[in-house]
Amino acid sequence: MPVSDSADPGDASVAPGDRPDDATDALPINELFYSLQGEGRLAGVPSVFVRTSGCNLRCWFCDSYHTSWEPTHAWLDVDDIVAEVESYDAADHVVLTGGEPMIHDASVALLEALDDRGYHTTVETNGTIVRDAPIDLASVSPKLASSTPTPDRAPDGADAGPWAERHERDRIDLDALAGLVDAYEFQLKFVVSDADDMPEIREVLADLRDAAAVPIRDDDVLLMPEGATRERLAETRTRVADLAMEHGFRYTPRLHVDLWNDAPET
Ligand code: SF4
Repeated sequence: MPVSDSADPGDASVAPGDRPDDATDALPINELFYSLQGEGRLAGVPSVFVRTSGCNLRCWFCDSYHTSWEPTHAWLDVDDIVAEVESYDAADHVVLTGGEPMIHDASVALLEALDDRGYHTTVETNGTIVRDAPIDLASVSPKLASSTPTPDRAPDGADAGPWAERHERDRIDLDALAGLVDAYEFQLKFVVSDADDMPEIREVLADLRDAAAVPIRDDDVLLMPEGATRERLAETRTRVADLAMEHGFRYTPRLHVDLWNDAPET
């Protein structure tokens, strides 16, 4: 069950509200595809990606705009999602991502079905919701103050409007973060623009180390350069790599951006 009540699945601005009445175990799917894991400690591993639509936050730099700011999707039954995953014979890793996949009750049923079939599952989450589900790697990406949208800093055509305050209120939930790291194998993945992000990362880490029952090693902390295009990554990755070395954290590439830029289904 959710630890945090900040994400209300009944809120159409958080989760898509056009769920069919007969969709018992269904998820709003934005895309489902086979690629290489681009980020984190499993970067380079062939994986099937199941991207759900809907998010309880609104990062100004969101690289999956059509799951958050302007969600699009088709509702698919869990059984149909699993059948589609199984059609990719070569893959034994599945990445459940979004949006924020943990806002959906049916994500648990999907993870259970994948676990029953022996898949390794990674869940990419913003760390604000904990559910009791079989997850092999919780890839937790707490959102820093630099992610908060403002009237001057929002995706093209998007209105930051009430989301500026709401995102700022909800982006860090220490109880949920501690619940995730205590329950699962995890990595903490911070999207970093520049050195100004580092004091907050250190502050979140210190608070989380106090709150969590398990140790959090520097090796569990990954710095990922902000940027959803090759052009933007070229501006951020060297300075983020330097920050990783300076602070003793890991650096993670965005392999899919290096390989395929911002093409969909990568
Ligand atoms: S939490 Fe993730 S999916 Fe949601 S707005 Fe931020 S980057 Fe996008």
